[in-house]
Amino acid sequence: MARKQFKTESKKLLDMMINSIYTHKEVFLRELISNASDACDKLHFRSLTDDRVKLNRDDYEIRIEADKEGRTITISDNGCGMTAEELEKNLGTIAKSGSYEFKQEHPDSDEIFRDEKAEDAEKTEAGADGAQEEAAADADEKGDAEAARTPQVDVIGQFGVGFYSAFMVSDCITVVSRAYDEQQGTVWQSRGVEGYTIDPCEKESNGTTITLHLKADTPDENYSEFLDEWKIRELVKKYSDYIHYPIRMMVTRSRKKEGTPDDKPEYEEYKEDETLNSMIPIWKKATSEVTDEEYAQFYESKFYDYEAPLKVIRQKSEGTSEFVALLFIPSRAPYNYYSREYEKGLQLYSSGVLIMDKCKDLLPDYFSFVRGLVDSSDLSLNLSREFLQHDRQLRVIARAVEKKIGAELKKMQADDREKYEKFFDAFGTQLKYGLYTDFGSHKEALQDLVMWKSSHEEKPVTLKEYVSRMKEDQKSIYYVPGESIDAMKRLPQVEAVLAKGFEVLYLTEDVDEFAIKMLREYDGKTFLNVTQDELDLATDEEKEAAKTENESSADLLKFMQESVGSELKSVRFTNTLTGHPACLASEGELSVNMEKTLNKMPGSEADAPKAELVLEINLKHPIADRLKALYGKDDDTLAKYTRILYAQARLISGLSVGNAAEIGDLVCQLML
Ligand code: ADP
Ligand code: MG
Repeated sequence: MARKQFKTESKKLLDMMINSIYTHKEVFLRELISNASDACDKLHFRSLTDDRVKLNRDDYEIRIEADKEGRTITISDNGCGMTAEELEKNLGTIAKSGSYEFKQEHPDSDEIFRDEKAEDAEKTEAGADGAQEEAAADADEKGDAEAARTPQVDVIGQFGVGFYSAFMVSDCITVVSRAYDEQQGTVWQSRGVEGYTIDPCEKESNGTTITLHLKADTPDENYSEFLDEWKIRELVKKYSDYIHYPIRMMVTRSRKKEGTPDDKPEYEEYKEDETLNSMIPIWKKATSEVTDEEYAQFYESKFYDYEAPLKVIRQKSEGTSEFVALLFIPSRAPYNYYSREYEKGLQLYSSGVLIMDKCKDLLPDYFSFVRGLVDSSDLSLNLSREFLQHDRQLRVIARAVEKKIGAELKKMQADDREKYEKFFDAFGTQLKYGLYTDFGSHKEALQDLVMWKSSHEEKPVTLKEYVSRMKEDQKSIYYVPGESIDAMKRLPQVEAVLAKGFEVLYLTEDVDEFAIKMLREYDGKTFLNVTQDELDLATDEEKEAAKTENESSADLLKFMQESVGSELKSVRFTNTLTGHPACLASEGELSVNMEKTLNKMPGSEADAPKAELVLEINLKHPIADRLKALYGKDDDTLAKYTRILYAQARLISGLSVGNAAEIGDLVCQLML
């Protein structure tokens, strides 16, 4: 018997491997199945150029067997197998990947087989770049028969440690293998870091059989569960459903014993071969071959939703980076969507094998509501498959996916407004946060997706629609922040703008105004908060008149400001208001509404920033003359009136009145 030591560096690696690299022990099954699939791929690859290989594509299979009494689980394949030297080389040195070498020696192995398999009847030319991408969206729907093909040989293994993950669950591993050309088999056995033995043995046919002797259960770890049929089925479904060779297992079923009466049936157990995996991923099928119901079912079971998705997006890209994406926009926001608990991400597959359940890097935050998966054949995997080595490829994919989502949403907005409004109801707030975060750098991606209700029919409108309706003499996009549209409509400044026939956007969400501030402008038009910024409604003459009035009444206005105190920055006359005597405006960056929002945030009371408030008095209202008349004659009454007007303006703006009792008394005095 040949007893050998692992290479020293391998020992360390093996130790690390067993104890820390993988987060879930159950992935051992995925790794061994992937290796078996790789081995079938390799032999199949060879058969195409070597007549001596007699196997057809349909002859390959992967088998799983569990023996409860013996506590073993066996994974076997009829792939290329390994010679004694190969066993030694591949399993004796950790991080030496035979699959990687195979790929290096046959760089075109993926290419050659692309034409062979036609089950996937689609082709779209779309790299990471946008223009092609959009064309791809249409082509996707058609399902071009001349078609993209799944690479026949996509060798999954790339790094050479996957095999060792089996040590996480087993204390002894036996590998019996026979290379296709050899008559002699070889048995390799190891109990972990101490080393391994390697010996000749009998094996009937080519392929590899790996037997794991499971560790004893501990209070924390239930290794026995890997012996259960249902567990194995679940793991295969979860991680290896789309391996393109059948993964079979003899399963136990029960049936009614023949001849036993229907009212007193007896049952017997029998064994039956079951194929555990579905082999062709739904995302690799042509869109024309999959019904809406099938997509919905897949979505609901995979992503735990009980409602069909609002939209299914299928993306296939070839060129710069090859990948298929199957994306879903849910019909409603999950209950925890707008909380910290919610985790964004797409499932990531490498050639049909699940690598990561929630790959965050594939989705920008503002599209975090998208569920789904990406399957790529050219990801370089590192040690554990759970972390990707080169995130460059991932970034390329992420960018393409993001563009596709944006394009699809725009399409929905244009073609199916009702659906888009439903979408926006659920996830619009997230898009607005997207506008606001990262200093507005996602403006391009988002500015045409967001909507606000406007005075035009009080329905959500896009900025594009707003601008297209702007009047010739309208310079800005008018908006007003507030709590309810009813209240906003009655604001003095809003009335004034509406009276001129201009459209106003009603901003009802906290995030709205912050998002607009980040946008700065749209299509060259600036935004104007009608309750804050100086309204440009007046004619030149009116403006001139107001200016003169303000200058000549400077002392009066100063007196009025002082009679309220420092919370009021200034008082001015205006002639843009319609009926109301006075209203509140503000100066500077912070609007009244933003102040309200910031004050709502927990822990911000003391040092929360304040808006610089301005009290505007309507020159066209008789109260203006009354105030002027009082100044210098009855300053006491003037001060009282000012305080009442200021309180009134605050109330109209939806602000509270701090000295309500005092104001109440003042009003009462005037009544007597
Ligand atoms: P990787 O799959 O990333 O190459 P592994 O540790 O999973 O790394 O496997 C190491 C090597 O062992 C593989 O590259 C392959 O050459 C060989 N190997 C593993 N399992 C099998 C198998 N079932 N049949 C043939 N070769 C195998
Ligand atoms: Mg492997």
